[in-house]
Amino acid sequence: MKAWRFYRFGDLRLDEVPEPALAPGHVLARPLVVQPSVTEAQLAIGVRTLAYEKIRRRLETEAPVQLFGHEFCARVLAVGEGVTRVRPGDRVAARAKLPCGRCGPCGSGRDELCRRGPIIGFDLPGCFAELAVLPEIALVKVDDRISDGEAACLQSLSDSLAAVETAGVARGDSVAIFGQGSMGLECLQVARARGAGLLITVDVREEACRISKDLGADQAIDATRTDPVAAIRELTGGEGADVIFECAGGSPKQGLAGTRTLAQAIDAVRAGGKLVGVSWFGHPLEVDIDLLRERSLRYLFPDISTLAHLEETVRLVATGQVRLRPVITHVLPGIERVPEAFEITANKGAHRAINPAQVVFETGSGSGAPRSSRTP
Ligand SMILES: [Zn+2]
Repeated sequence: MKAWRFYRFGDLRLDEVPEPALAPGHVLARPLVVQPSVTEAQLAIGVRTLAYEKIRRRLETEAPVQLFGHEFCARVLAVGEGVTRVRPGDRVAARAKLPCGRCGPCGSGRDELCRRGPIIGFDLPGCFAELAVLPEIALVKVDDRISDGEAACLQSLSDSLAAVETAGVARGDSVAIFGQGSMGLECLQVARARGAGLLITVDVREEACRISKDLGADQAIDATRTDPVAAIRELTGGEGADVIFECAGGSPKQGLAGTRTLAQAIDAVRAGGKLVGVSWFGHPLEVDIDLLRERSLRYLFPDISTLAHLEETVRLVATGQVRLRPVITHVLPGIERVPEAFEITANKGAHRAINPAQVVFETGSGSGAPRSSRTP
């Protein structure tokens, strides 16, 4: 089969490799739509972000190596011994981080706290290949009302859902979201579904502000024209928002906001309010902790998403409570287009992309797969 393998940072090649062997508790699946996550796209070119050291080590000791590909929709072709939740023909999506099954939290039924398990695409081969063998515990069955392209976004949506849950958004809470990329737009829609009150979004792109309004923001602030801190204060009676999600920070080289939006978020949250850090910055930050202390701010970081989160994303999308179609801006046909998807996703600003670029692996017929499903 063909699989994309990394030889070093910035060097990936479509190689012929042996088909993976099915194992107990696993399924053999054919990827239909796959997208690089932003983190993967940055790591692919050697940007220092989450898991950089792990990937560097693997490249140094194992190259060429199959890396990345945890955001996907795939069709199950065969199931291994003991698999009960999915059957051949089902479409599946996955969570990336898996419980180890051996540590204290795993043993006491709290596997959402496990930090030792493998991550698909980082420790296990992912879906940038014609075939993949995937552990059943990672998988969720995709509802027929969800397209392949939308299903490839469910993993990211489950992280956004976990972020909103970590924030404990209460009915009627005023919520502001800095950054209207895919996770910002997901947090917006999930917060709305969870009963948030006034929803304010902030971005510097006109298009993102437009999509944000379309997906349920009460006020979409274009920070190139309006001071977002002053606007959020004014809209919340001078207090600041109850909850703020910071989803815009990161390397300006990749078109992200640096640390500017974090400083703004700290200023725009009310005293005693909650600030949820969704962004990865890739380097240590200087933050005025006394300011957080003085204003009794809760600076929180999202929990790891669980299988229950992933299952809820299927319900949210299938019932139209979360709409993913408007955020899918770039769709590339054919497994050969994977490097282009990485390039677009690593530089979303320059390409005017919202969601990561998606690659449709199955184009045309003759693949022997069951009936093809809708794509966006
Ligand atoms: Zn564990």
